[in-house]
Amino acid sequence: MQGTIFDIKHFAVHDGPGIRQTIFFKGCPLNCWWCHNPESQNIEQESFIRINKLDGKEFKRNKTIGYQISSDELFKIISGDKIFFEESHGGVTFSGGEPLMQAEFLYEIALLCKLNGIQTCLDTTGFASEKTIQKIARVIDCFLFDIKLINNVLHKKYTNVPVDGILKNLRWLDENHKNIILRFPVIPGITNTETNLKDIKEFISTLKNTQQIDLLPFHTISISKYHRFNKEYKMGDTPALSDDEMKELKTEFENIGFVVSIGG
Ligand code: SF4
Repeated sequence: MQGTIFDIKHFAVHDGPGIRQTIFFKGCPLNCWWCHNPESQNIEQESFIRINKLDGKEFKRNKTIGYQISSDELFKIISGDKIFFEESHGGVTFSGGEPLMQAEFLYEIALLCKLNGIQTCLDTTGFASEKTIQKIARVIDCFLFDIKLINNVLHKKYTNVPVDGILKNLRWLDENHKNIILRFPVIPGITNTETNLKDIKEFISTLKNTQQIDLLPFHTISISKYHRFNKEYKMGDTPALSDDEMKELKTEFENIGFVVSIGG
C-alpha cells in the first residue's frame, strides 16, 4: 500500500520515549490558526519556488513537498534505526499532519513495526471515527494526543472541526488503558484563556489512566511558510508566552497531579 509523507526525522528525542524516528504524514483535516506546519495540511504534493540570495544575486529553485512511499519501503527505512531504538527504548513516531487521515496505510506500517518488535507512537489530533481509533489502538503503543479547546464552538472556529468526537476517542483510549501523553498547544488568547484552562483541567482530571501532559509553546517562526504556500496567517502579531509564564502554567498542571513537560 502507498501513503503520502513529507519528511522523516531520525534521532528525534521529543516525540515519545527514547530515540525515535518520526515519520511526517501529509494531510490534516484540521486547519488550526496557529499551525506550525502549514505545508502538512494538504494531502496533495505541493511545489513552491525557494529563493536564496548570495552576493546580491537571487537563486531560484523549485521545491516539492510530499511524496508517495510504499509501506515496505518505509518499513525498510524505519528498520535502519532499530539498533538505536533497542538501546534507548525508543521506536517510531507517526506524526503529521494527521496520520489518521491515511488510516489504512498507517495501520499497515504500524502493524509491520509491531510484528518486528519496533515500538510505535502516534502523534494525533484524535479526529477520526470511533471505529478507526479503536482499530489503530491495536497497533499503537503510545498516543501523543492533542487537547486544544473544550468548547465545541471555539474548537470549530479555531481548528475547523468539532471537538466532541475527539474527546470521546480520548476517553475511550483512557478507559482502555492505552498509554497516553496529552499535548496542549499554549496559544495566547485562544487556548491559553482562563475559561479554557479551567475546562481542560476539569476534563483531564476525569481521565483515569492518563497522568502526563506536554505544554507546547506557541512560536512565530513558521510565518514565512504561510507566505511561501500562499496561506492566510491568522495569528497577526500574537507574541509567544515568556519562559516564566510557561513555568507558571506548568505548576498549575502539576498542582492537579500531572507530570508536565514544556515542549514535549
Ligand atoms: S492539527 Fe496540527 S497539523 Fe493539523 S492544522 Fe492543527 S496544528 Fe496543523
